[in-house]
Amino acid sequence: MQNTDFDRLQAENEGLRTRSARLETANELARRLRTPADFPVFLSEILSILQDYVACERSLVLICDDADETLDYGISSFMLPDIDQQFQLEKLRIPLTNSSEHPLVQAWLHGAHVLMTPASAIHDWAADAWLGDLIGSQQFVSMPLFSDERLIGVLLVDNQPSALPVSQDQYERLELLAQSAVIPLTHARMHRKTKQQLADNMREMYILQQIDRELNDSINLKRVFEMTLDWVLRFTNAQAASLALYNPDTDELHFLVEYGYDQSPEQMAMRRANSGSGITQRVARSGRAEVVSDVHADPEYTMLQHKTQAQLAVPVLREERVIAVITLESRRLNGFTPTHLEFAGKLAARAGVAIDNARLYQEAILEREKLSHILNNTADVVIVIGVDERILLINQSALSATRLYPGQQYVGQTTNQVFEGTPLIEAFQKARRLGDNHTGEVKMPNDRTFHINIRRFEEIGWIVVMHDITPFKEMDRLKSELIATVSHDLKQPLSVMTGYIELMQMQQAVSERGQNAMTMIRRAMQNMRQLIDDLLDLAKIESGIKLDLQPVEIPTIVNDCVEQLRNMAYTKSMTINNNLADSLPQVVGDRMRLRQILINLIGNAVKYTPDEGQVNIWAELRSGSVRVAVQDNGLGISPEDQIHIFERFYRVRRPETDAIEGTGLGLAIVKSLVEAHSGQITVESKLGEGSTFFVSLPLAHHAD
Ligand code: ATP
Ligand code: MG
Repeated sequence: MQNTDFDRLQAENEGLRTRSARLETANELARRLRTPADFPVFLSEILSILQDYVACERSLVLICDDADETLDYGISSFMLPDIDQQFQLEKLRIPLTNSSEHPLVQAWLHGAHVLMTPASAIHDWAADAWLGDLIGSQQFVSMPLFSDERLIGVLLVDNQPSALPVSQDQYERLELLAQSAVIPLTHARMHRKTKQQLADNMREMYILQQIDRELNDSINLKRVFEMTLDWVLRFTNAQAASLALYNPDTDELHFLVEYGYDQSPEQMAMRRANSGSGITQRVARSGRAEVVSDVHADPEYTMLQHKTQAQLAVPVLREERVIAVITLESRRLNGFTPTHLEFAGKLAARAGVAIDNARLYQEAILEREKLSHILNNTADVVIVIGVDERILLINQSALSATRLYPGQQYVGQTTNQVFEGTPLIEAFQKARRLGDNHTGEVKMPNDRTFHINIRRFEEIGWIVVMHDITPFKEMDRLKSELIATVSHDLKQPLSVMTGYIELMQMQQAVSERGQNAMTMIRRAMQNMRQLIDDLLDLAKIESGIKLDLQPVEIPTIVNDCVEQLRNMAYTKSMTINNNLADSLPQVVGDRMRLRQILINLIGNAVKYTPDEGQVNIWAELRSGSVRVAVQDNGLGISPEDQIHIFERFYRVRRPETDAIEGTGLGLAIVKSLVEAHSGQITVESKLGEGSTFFVSLPLAHHAD
């Protein structure tokens, strides 16, 4: 009895010892497997544990890939004698899809441990080179690793080359290891996946950075497209890619760049013409990116590449309009992942900006070429001067007008350097000094007269435009000459006629009616003489009279004029109010000519104001000049007539002016005289209410 008890206790002790040993092993395993989650470290730790604890002669670890689609080589404790076989072993990828018929794989997928001996099944599976040949085992044990009911790896051991069977003890230790390894393996896989994602992200970031740099540098549209496709092909591992411009108005796609297709662009164009542009067209219309995992299941797919299984198409958008589509082709079913889609989208966004830049640049170039063509073919001189007084642009006409050399580079040089000694520099300096626009006439070194207009632009500087007026000047000169000659020649017969009329009147050789007629003839001849005098005067002024310039007091001159016209005003019961202050500073002028100006203006004011009207004269000091105003409350002048009254022979045609005599030369003379004094004349008037004429004359002592 005692013996039996002793035996039982001993047996129990034996059991407890085994359990204790197993627990110790499990503990030890847990400690050793608390390795860093780094995947390669984890694999080598598993291998060393296999060697230490299970102590089989050969061991092999297979691990599922991140997508759980294949069981891949992880690590092994042996080298195969044949180097090719070893290489193949390390490339081992066993598909885990449902289509895998392999009984061994099926067993692992169901979590079954497989103990295999040559006698059982190895022969049947010998055809499966990946196992039979690579392991070539007489007997081996495989232990699947499960996490959340999913296969994540397999441990395989055998006793080659001793050919001893795997012992029960080894088997149990292997089982224990399999249980302990699941959690660390899950972590290691997670770690591997995260690291991979990080690496992918870094790579993507690097690529995008590089793309940004290259796209920003390129303003060549074709190059932008080529680079875009090149990058997208590299990142997605697609086999072929195309980029097509899209016109939303006509729904037309224009394929600009195509990479990786077996067929020629012509063949593909033909195909598209017959069957449409398939998925690319759909994406162009919808503006939404698409991944088609299996193109053959898509009724709209147009085949351009034989082996294509999947397609990815992304629109390139600008201001919510599709301007282009990037299409990628893959030979693999489900060949495009969400990462690929995301990347293609990012690339399309960048390409959109680059396409815009390239287009804008090309448009700008075109505009510039157009502008330069126009500028160089216009007869007008155009010169643009920067705020730093350097030349920004100078056209062909400018070069010939200034007698500069056509081949020389003048852009960037200063105006003083380039135009030294030409009247242009004087005109420019004047405009610069006054800080305002400047117009006038200049005679250029090529002996031609130009009308010059210099305008100031805040951001640019100055734009000088000159128009050749030489022919007009010549015509004007000829006309003035003709008028002067004819007028002069008319004067002589007119004097003869006047003399004889006077003689006849004195002799009273005609009847009373005849006397009246002769009085009329004398009056008409007087008018004619006045007209001729005016014409001659105008011709003289316009051909550039010599003014006797000196400091003059305006009030004195105005007083004289008013006195002279007082009688004329008196007959119309009009008053002339002379409000000029004696303290007014002197102006520069020719006394006689200034009188002529004011007589004309005050005379007009009296002439074109009905009886009992009023004329007011005053003057004010302005910067650098005195402005004299002659105001009446007479007939007034309409805006349309105001434009023309300073022209020669222009007279307002209205019923109320019909009876008033005049030649229409007065204001033309006044204007020429005022301008000869470097002054200015303007008018403000309202029909029926009156007119005010303003004359500005430069001060005698002014600091400019
Ligand atoms: P001239 O002065 O040569 O004898 P005129 O007076 O007709 O002839 P301008 O002095 O040149 O010629 O004037 C041109 C026209 O302008 C006049 O015919 C007249 O219709 C209009 N005009 C000039 N001054 C006034 C004024 N103060 N009020 C209204 N109309 C005027
Ligand atoms: Mg007049």
